[in-house]
Amino acid sequence: MNRTSRSAILIVACAAMLSLAPMGWAQQTPLGQPQGGIFNPSVLKGEGGCSLTSNCADVAPGMIQSALVESPLEENLRQLTDHFGGRLTGSPAAHEAVEWVVEAFHQAGVDDVHVEKFTMPHGWSEGATRLEVLTPAQFSVRLVSTGWSPATPPAGIMAPVVDVGAGDDAGFAKAGQSVKGSIVLVHSSILETYEQLADEYVQDVAIVQRAQKSGAAAIFWMSSRPNRLLYRHTLSFEGNPEPLPQAILAREDAERIARFLAHSQVVRVHFYMPNRLTGPVESENVVAEIRGREKPDEFVLLGAHLDSWELGTGALDNGCNAALAIDAARVIHSSGVLPRRSIRFVLFTGEEQGMLGSAAYARAHQAEMDKMVAAIVFDSGNGRVTDYSISGRKDIANALREDLKPVQFLHPVNVTLDAELGTDNFYFLLEGVPTLVADQDPANYMLNYHAESDTLDKVDIVELKKNVAVAAVTTYAIADAPERLGERQSRAEIEQLLNDTGLVAQMKAMGFLPFWLDGTRGRQ
Ligand SMILES: [Zn+2]
Repeated sequence: MNRTSRSAILIVACAAMLSLAPMGWAQQTPLGQPQGGIFNPSVLKGEGGCSLTSNCADVAPGMIQSALVESPLEENLRQLTDHFGGRLTGSPAAHEAVEWVVEAFHQAGVDDVHVEKFTMPHGWSEGATRLEVLTPAQFSVRLVSTGWSPATPPAGIMAPVVDVGAGDDAGFAKAGQSVKGSIVLVHSSILETYEQLADEYVQDVAIVQRAQKSGAAAIFWMSSRPNRLLYRHTLSFEGNPEPLPQAILAREDAERIARFLAHSQVVRVHFYMPNRLTGPVESENVVAEIRGREKPDEFVLLGAHLDSWELGTGALDNGCNAALAIDAARVIHSSGVLPRRSIRFVLFTGEEQGMLGSAAYARAHQAEMDKMVAAIVFDSGNGRVTDYSISGRKDIANALREDLKPVQFLHPVNVTLDAELGTDNFYFLLEGVPTLVADQDPANYMLNYHAESDTLDKVDIVELKKNVAVAAVTTYAIADAPERLGERQSRAEIEQLLNDTGLVAQMKAMGFLPFWLDGTRGRQ
């Protein structure tokens, strides 16, 4: 079910933009303050309080109003998605989007914007993947490579397909010796919940290991979406190539192959996937800052990833939240008050390849981690924010509930201790910094997750504006609070937290644990 309901709001400020010829990105100028803005743009620098008033909660209604009225948000998101398209890390589209984002933050009125580069071990792109079914019947199969999958040999792979069920130990045991030299077909259920998604990542890593150990030539994953919808992701979380060629097959085509196999008919295929893997490539995070009035060295980070997979245009994942971070900067700046501490708005790249941009940021800023008060991350589409997951940090729950009071009239936003390994908060958590991940109503997120269908028409702008309000108020309140939200944890405390929350099991299953244990990542 698609719950999208497009906003009928007329964006006056966009009219001039739409008349520009959409040729190069340079002509795609990001929008700044809305016309007829409701705030005085001059910044008040009151001493020892949020503004001329003494209560920090007093500034929240104005920020909420600024987020909800006509704004550059929708037009900015249109440019990020329709103009640049899918922003695969390391691709020209991603680099051009980075330049555009720098300008967008300038337009939002922040004090400083800059780009911080990091290196990915490999660049990757897909060639003209195709599959011919040779026996027992000829039919066309829709398929797409997984990200960072190696190419097949130049002549392709000519092999039988072997059904390994769900790809668990029992499935491989049942298939036995026939797996050697074959292409294994792994079944899936239709993706409906975040829990299923998290399980899928954890289980798939083990399935690849089983396939490799059994001598399989390649893996075919049955699409977890109906109606021949395809999507892409990777299980290689360090930006390195996957161990085996892997493709996602349209669910209906995979089921057809499975039915032949169930009737003991041999399915022989010619699988051709000329992917291009390059050497190291540079990528960039964009960092924008509003400097604090009292403790400018201390900072709260509001982050989202800018990169996406490129079959669609990365609207839900995560263009809408990249646009949210830019708009939260505009909202906070235009409130005319300065927070006590600084706020850094960071758009990461390389998230889809294993949170590489945020890992690089945490590494590059290790000397500042004592000054980092919190990392707030948005990365679950544009469904309503229902909670902030604080990954087991009981010590910050009460203070955060106070900070969230001003947004409760929009809808309830709660605090949960849940923890999950899956987005850009993770490497800050490993540094002992309190992290908040926005939990969002799944809305239409699962169906379109990483898929060809993740396009702007799926985004509910009215809901996204409410999320901008929640993000801006939360970030401002934490940055402005008299006391720090929470202390930085020691390595021993982080270790305890990883055990208490079950994160350590996820790290182990997904291959992250060695980097923590050997000190490559996280607090020493
Ligand atoms: Zn994402």
